[in-house]
Amino acid sequence: SEAIREVLDWLESRPDVQSLRAAVCDLNGIMRGKRIPVDQAVKALEGKLRMPFSVCGVDVWGEDIVGNKLVFSTGDADGICQWTGRGILPMEWTAHPTALIPLWLTDESGAPFLGDPRQVLARILDRYKALDLTPVVATELEFYLVDPKPERPRGPVSPVTGRRLDSDAALSIDEIDDFEGFLHDVYAACRAQDIPVDSAIAENGVGQFEINLNHVDDALRAADDAILFKRTVKGIARKHGFIASFMAKPYGKRSGSGLHVHFSLIDKDGNNVFDDGTARGSDILRHAVGGQLAAMAESTLVFAPHFNSFRRLRPNSHAPTAVAWGYENRMVAIRIPGGPASARRIEHRVAGADANPYLVLAAILGAALIGIEKKLNPGEPATTDVYERDLPKLPPDWASAIASFESGNLVAEIFPDALRGWLVACKRQELETFALRVNNFEFETYLEAV
Ligand code: GLU
Ligand code: MG
Ligand code: MG
Repeated sequence: SEAIREVLDWLESRPDVQSLRAAVCDLNGIMRGKRIPVDQAVKALEGKLRMPFSVCGVDVWGEDIVGNKLVFSTGDADGICQWTGRGILPMEWTAHPTALIPLWLTDESGAPFLGDPRQVLARILDRYKALDLTPVVATELEFYLVDPKPERPRGPVSPVTGRRLDSDAALSIDEIDDFEGFLHDVYAACRAQDIPVDSAIAENGVGQFEINLNHVDDALRAADDAILFKRTVKGIARKHGFIASFMAKPYGKRSGSGLHVHFSLIDKDGNNVFDDGTARGSDILRHAVGGQLAAMAESTLVFAPHFNSFRRLRPNSHAPTAVAWGYENRMVAIRIPGGPASARRIEHRVAGADANPYLVLAAILGAALIGIEKKLNPGEPATTDVYERDLPKLPPDWASAIASFESGNLVAEIFPDALRGWLVACKRQELETFALRVNNFEFETYLEAV
């Protein structure tokens, strides 16, 4: 086909690229797969490559790999890797240049494999298509640059001044200047992969940055972009001698890193159905928010998938703790930004940067759809004090989030049973592994003292 031809032409123009990465995304939002020689590109592009279903994290693998310590529920048969059609994505940050062929999984008959998070998001988008609606989605990702040398994370040393960053400096232009070498390479690598990077800022934390991706009218693509962006930032950071961390809360007392999602819905004429000409937004917008609030506690596991994620969801932190919404309010889970009516949209602020973008978008868009279909009412918007007020709260910890996701009725309308079973099993396994580790705080506090 034309698309395959384009990839092969590119490879021909790049004789320095001698190996490829053929990879799918797993339940934890991590890309996994194989290093293949360039002469196998056609095989991968034509859907002839096979990988065990466990590549998605749904089965037993090694001992300590996150998400990979499960019973062999699929028998670990092979899935068929299909090209997502996204092209070939140059990776210039490895020792030799290489390129990624992004894939997703079907079974032998060509049916989507429902342990593949990309397939799960695609099913939600099919439901929107049936209503003639298209989500327009943008993501905002926060991350820390960390010095790789000390055992505990510390702020990076400025390549310009040679001094270690040691204070919070939100929106500091000086900090951006100091890290221009890194940022320049990130933007160049994103352009080469067609990732629509917009502005960057120095965020609150020491060495914390936020880069926004422009909105696109294809949610699958927005999730692909977020995954590719994270890989790119991590790869370029290593090249510059840093670790880039998308962990939700690497420092207990500094800001966490979020994955905010902005979205609106357009009808088949391209009109934004959240816009009714007012600052309030349309009834459809409020029903979408109603659905998101209704499903929020049940889907918190998707937004906060790790033990560490719950350190981020703390009062007075710009990260939410309550199931609440409001206009121009950054303290709540769902913010309706101001600005021109034609850009009326929802900002969903619950997910951490550690969450899987495919599952996050499936949860957000799936819940909005339920709200629209059932005409759910979101109640009164919050004005202030949402951390203190008597509002329903997000699950306070990982174990309760797992339990809510497992038993929730609305998440059952959003996610296929198979996916829910695998995600719960995967997270329980991780939780059990975690529970068996005694940490430093316990030694310091109890070993001799009690
Ligand atoms: N860092 C905050 C979070 O954890 C978000 C800050 C912001 O509004 O950009 O979600
Ligand atoms: Mg931010
Ligand atoms: Mg934001």
